[in-house]
Amino acid sequence: MLIPKKVETALNNHLTLEMAAIYHYLSVASWCDANGFEGSSAFYHKQSSEEQTHFMKFFNYINQVGGHALVPELKKPQTTFKSILETCQKSLESEHKVTQSIYKLIETARKENDHATEAFLKFFVDEQLEEEMQFNRLIDRIKLIGGGPQSMYYVDKELEKLATTNNAEAGV
Ligand code: MG
Repeated sequence: MLIPKKVETALNNHLTLEMAAIYHYLSVASWCDANGFEGSSAFYHKQSSEEQTHFMKFFNYINQVGGHALVPELKKPQTTFKSILETCQKSLESEHKVTQSIYKLIETARKENDHATEAFLKFFVDEQLEEEMQFNRLIDRIKLIGGGPQSMYYVDKELEKLATTNNAEAGV
């Protein structure tokens, strides 16, 4: 076995958070769709697909290094939201939890002298920073323009842009 047992256990625990992120974004996308926010729905569907990629990266990595990846058990995610602002705030909270868990994984890998896992996690450190920055900017922007119907139309269009372009092109 290439991977230290403690690292394998920590990675398996982390799988729960990545899977919860898939569910969270899918649930938000559905709420957006049901409430006429089509652009936002497309954005959150894209987020959910990205999380599936993250989940599979962790899942496959555990097996590749001689561990046993375990499909996690999950609670039902939140299904209704007050506003697009709330969906962004909940998404930031969720991303922040994932970031903290990744930092802890790095500490565990270091303690176990597992340089391979530490190198594997580097991609996620960068990814998490991008995600948190994206939601921070969205929250600031929504607070700036307010929550009226016309503002919401504009916010929905902004999120639609994010769903079809990369972050740099959309300026978020
Ligand atoms: Mg993720």
